[in-house]
Amino acid sequence: MHCLHRSLSPFLALLIPISFFLLPVPSGEANELWQVKKSAHFKVYYKSDPEHYVDEVLEKAEKYYDSITENLGFRRFNFWTWDNACTINLYPSREDYLAGTKQPHWSGGIANVRKRRIDTFFYAKSFLDTTLPHEMTHLIFREFVGYDRRLPLWLDEGIACSQEKDGGQYTAIARVLVKTSMFIHLDKLTEITKPGLFMPEVFYSESAAVVEFLMQEYGKEKFIDFCRALRDNKLNNDWRTFFMEIYGFRDMTDMGERWKAYLFK
Ligand SMILES: [Zn+2]
Repeated sequence: MHCLHRSLSPFLALLIPISFFLLPVPSGEANELWQVKKSAHFKVYYKSDPEHYVDEVLEKAEKYYDSITENLGFRRFNFWTWDNACTINLYPSREDYLAGTKQPHWSGGIANVRKRRIDTFFYAKSFLDTTLPHEMTHLIFREFVGYDRRLPLWLDEGIACSQEKDGGQYTAIARVLVKTSMFIHLDKLTEITKPGLFMPEVFYSESAAVVEFLMQEYGKEKFIDFCRALRDNKLNNDWRTFFMEIYGFRDMTDMGERWKAYLFK
């Protein structure tokens, strides 16, 4: 299991919260004031916070920032400093959130990668352990490799799932799946573009397990080389060529076979 929850360093504790303002409404109802609290990499917008939930969100968000950039090998790149802070809009209730974001009723949070923003509401279920690190990882990864770069859905989702608090469970599930007829081979996994349509649990578990395989077997230096290649080669090359060039796989079938062997270990 991953342990993403480390104790807050004294330095970080000093930074949270560093400021407190009253601001006009970013969206939604008129005449109500939103407030903002900031930390080193985040600004959280909210209306009132009698139980100090905002402090908990900022503290967790900073911890995930550290763990995600460390785990993905992005530590040396400074994301989200100063004016580029990541925004978290905390709507007062689910009803306000649904009205403000036009999301489906089951949604507990939504990320806008280009605007570097996460929308959710107070005490949304699983937000602090799952949604927050998941969506933050989407934002960081896409900010690095580029928003327009075409990639298989399993790569975007696998990276995001692997950074959830209990991200290790996905690989554990994939290790069970690989022994069954439900297992989706890598070439078929690559064809999936909408996870909701076809066994989402299988899709997310296997996607995270591919990323876990790459990280465990080849290390984060290779991963960062791969991300750099995606970023620097603009949109000219197919993503598959970088798996061949940087990881040394003969082709995607070879990569799929090595991944399967890892799951059987
Ligand atoms: Zn996702």
